[in-house]
Amino acid sequence: MSNGRRLVRAILIILLTLISPIALSGPAAFQWLEASYGELALDDVRAVPASQWQSVSADETLNRGFSDSDYWLKVTLPVDKRNRLLVVGYPLLDEVSLYWEVDGQIIETHHTGDTLPFNSRPIVHRNFVFLAPPSSEPLTAWMRVHTNGSAQIPVAVMPSAEFLAKEQASFGWQAMFVGVVFSLALYNFFLFAMVRDITYLWYVLTVFTTSLVQLNFNGLLFQWVWPTFPRLNEFITAPLVGASLIFALTFTIKFLTLKQFSPLGYRLLWFLRLTTLLLIGYSLFVSYHSGIALVSALAAICTPIAWLVALRLWLRGQTLAGYYVLAWTPLLVGHLALATSKLGLLPRSEFTEMAPQAGVAIEAVLLSFALAYRINIERKKRQEAQEHALVVQREANLTLETRVRERTEELQNANQLLKAASLTDGLTGVANRRRFDEKLNEEWQRAIRHEHELSLIMVDIDHFKQVNDTFGHLVGDDCLVAVANVIDNEVQRSIDLLARFGGEEFVVLLPTTGSEGAGVVAERLRTAVEGSPVKVSDGGAPVNLTISLGVATLLATQGADPQELMRRADEALYRAKAGGRNRVVVWRNSQPTTIS
Ligand code: GH3
Ligand code: MG
Ligand code: MG
Repeated sequence: MSNGRRLVRAILIILLTLISPIALSGPAAFQWLEASYGELALDDVRAVPASQWQSVSADETLNRGFSDSDYWLKVTLPVDKRNRLLVVGYPLLDEVSLYWEVDGQIIETHHTGDTLPFNSRPIVHRNFVFLAPPSSEPLTAWMRVHTNGSAQIPVAVMPSAEFLAKEQASFGWQAMFVGVVFSLALYNFFLFAMVRDITYLWYVLTVFTTSLVQLNFNGLLFQWVWPTFPRLNEFITAPLVGASLIFALTFTIKFLTLKQFSPLGYRLLWFLRLTTLLLIGYSLFVSYHSGIALVSALAAICTPIAWLVALRLWLRGQTLAGYYVLAWTPLLVGHLALATSKLGLLPRSEFTEMAPQAGVAIEAVLLSFALAYRINIERKKRQEAQEHALVVQREANLTLETRVRERTEELQNANQLLKAASLTDGLTGVANRRRFDEKLNEEWQRAIRHEHELSLIMVDIDHFKQVNDTFGHLVGDDCLVAVANVIDNEVQRSIDLLARFGGEEFVVLLPTTGSEGAGVVAERLRTAVEGSPVKVSDGGAPVNLTISLGVATLLATQGADPQELMRRADEALYRAKAGGRNRVVVWRNSQPTTIS
């Protein structure tokens, strides 16, 4: 069994236990006759022959529906030594006059009813209660009842002690009802103040006004709130019932979110609400009788329609609507019972009178529960939305990270390209002067650490000016590229570096190479260039080129300067040029020596 169902069952059991001891005891048999308003006086009635009276047995209640006739009742009380009370158990009767007769004499008269101030009642009670005068003879109570409302006249005669016992239970029930519904209303009002969801306010107003309707029907509003303003009794019922209907309809619309989930139900309830509003206005100008008849009819229509709208939503799978149907059902039964009994269609009974009040209490409890369920649903929805947002954010972060990584890689690649470009000679594709300077420093430091020798070959193309002058600058460029390629092919160790030093001069750095080895490499370069005439693009005869080379070698030490290596290689090159070109001069034993 679900929690909801267990709760409903518990509430039903409690309410049934509460209602059961309040069954009216001592209902009296009596005789009655109907006359038009003011037609008969007491003496006329006393003279009416026995044959014209009608009888109501003890297990029946006189219920004439909406009628503005006078009803005359004759109740006979046998001799009894105990104190006895005559109770008319319906507080909304307009005029109630009671005449006690003993032995053919009228000994006591009371005029009361809800058109007179509350203190017109001989005993302070929400119903009409009269103390039977003590008598050794049988008593006759002559009673005239006139009302614009529903002419229901439940009459009981019982010992005072028994009445008091019943009253304890009955009043206890009323107090409990007030306690339950008002604390629920107050609690939900606080919820409204905190949560700011208007549905709570409509709930509070519905529960509040519906409870007032119940208290009004039980005569308690008159007794407690306005005992000295009986005229209010005439005007309050229709607007109060109407207001409770309007609030209940509005609550239903909001609670079930009808606008979104049931446009038809939404329009229907809107229409009923508008009709009720118009009828409240109308009821203020017509007789109490017509007003209360209209709102009773409307209540009998609105409750089942709201119930059906919710039922339809429930069948379509909305759990929230299920809670609503559950809460609304007792009230529906109650309202139907009350309305049909007020219209005189159903005999008035303890059930018809108690059912709506029990229905209101159950409804108030269950709807409060349903509202709590609704908060829970909304909290879950909010949580899901938050989780969804988190997932989306996480995905967005991941995408962003991937993009950043991709961009970084692209940037790194571009940087590498840039760096390579900045260290390469644009024409020949070999390393440029900058790269050479870097490399010279790196290798110089390494050579210091490992105490290695370091060699440098400086290369200059012979008579290059003439090449330019004879063939033009473009051919000169082609020749530079060709010579660079030839030298590059000869410089085989990956640690060595060929760089264009400027113009038609190249340098080859040979780390960890002694002067002997460097001389061999230089000689190899010289022969290679000499043996590789350059084919030029314009189809003319190949251009024969030669180079002069200066070689220097140093043992790197802490105090020495790599520029010294450059200076020496340059001097050796100068010697090679001076010695007739196309030759290698190697710096040996502290002086340049021509080796070829
Ligand atoms: P030598 O070295 O044998 O004494 O005679 P040289 O004619 O080569 O004389 P020098 O080294 O002084 O002249 C360098 C010439 O090289 C000057 C210029 O015309 C040419 N040159 C320098 N850089 C370039 C270049 O990038 N492209 C071309 N086409 N020619 C260049
Ligand atoms: Mg030169
Ligand atoms: Mg030259």
